[in-house]
Amino acid sequence: MKIGLCFDDVLLQPQYSEVESRASINIGNELGARFCALPIISSPMDTVTESEMAVEMSFYGGLAIIHRYNSIEKQVEICRFAGEEDAHIGAAIGVTADYLERADALVECGVSFLCIDVAHAHHMLMKRALTILKKRFPNTHIMAGNVATEQAFKALANWGADSIKVGIGGGSICSTRIQTGHGIPTLQSIMDCKSIAAQTGVKLIADGGIKNSGDIVKALAAGADFVMLGSLLAGTYETPGQIVTTPKGKMKIYRGMASKEAQNHWKGSVSSQEGISTYIPYKGNVSKILRDLEVGIRSGFSYSGAKNLTELWEHAIFIQQTNASCKESSTHILSGK
Ligand code: IMP
Repeated sequence: MKIGLCFDDVLLQPQYSEVESRASINIGNELGARFCALPIISSPMDTVTESEMAVEMSFYGGLAIIHRYNSIEKQVEICRFAGEEDAHIGAAIGVTADYLERADALVECGVSFLCIDVAHAHHMLMKRALTILKKRFPNTHIMAGNVATEQAFKALANWGADSIKVGIGGGSICSTRIQTGHGIPTLQSIMDCKSIAAQTGVKLIADGGIKNSGDIVKALAAGADFVMLGSLLAGTYETPGQIVTTPKGKMKIYRGMASKEAQNHWKGSVSSQEGISTYIPYKGNVSKILRDLEVGIRSGFSYSGAKNLTELWEHAIFIQQTNASCKESSTHILSGK
């Protein structure tokens, strides 16, 4: 039986380095013919990405995808607002109901790319949507997801996806694996999909379960072009939603889009519950988080002796760690053992 490795199961072997300064490392990448200095995309979730997040992500060289859990008019308004400062933003759509009208309105309002965002993308409805949308908007970059296997990545690439989100069941607020028994650790999926990404030139977006800059470096080294972040950006000032004062301090809501709460909010009913809703501590401005992540990513490239992503892919050597080494890898003084 195949084994699925997750971020905590592996480490990158430190390498001989000729990187003189971390500032000289290029950690960026291109998406849709535009260069992004920071390989980070904020998740299209209603507690993560609306206009304020999009403006900040764009300012720091990353990307944002405006979520689709609202009316077409509202989503267009959010995109317009975010686009005022020439933000490089994407907008999410689904594969049923109003998805074509939504796509028309979003492309018309000038978003730089579309993201067909569904939980299980290796599906005939995705095939239909991608085929129609690629014909309708031949010049628009189309991201699609999520997939977890090489076969699925290949299928979406053949159906016309320009970039593909990889990761099923690994999100911090996700209960898909509990509810359905299905999923693959995100790192394993990246490793499985990377050769098709390299052959086809389709960008690989690692999505779900990324907890720190170390996981970002592991995801990139394993073959990702970009990472998508939910929980790491959630709880910041720029996310939608109120700051709530509780006995435990200031908090904000972070919720899975398939949680009972989110489904009730956006469609008025609940089907399969595959996510949770929770309060998390308020983190202040997202700029501080992005700066810290960037510093960690640069340092990670330097440990692998890599001046850019291509070199990271060439140099990266993963080792598997044991449970005991996983404990040693944490700041173990804090556990008192
Ligand atoms: P995180 O960065 O680990 O918090 O994961 C965020 C990712 O989880 C998102 O980008 C989505 O791919 C995924 N996701 C969002 N909502 C749900 C849900 O309700 N169930 C399962 N996965 C979800």
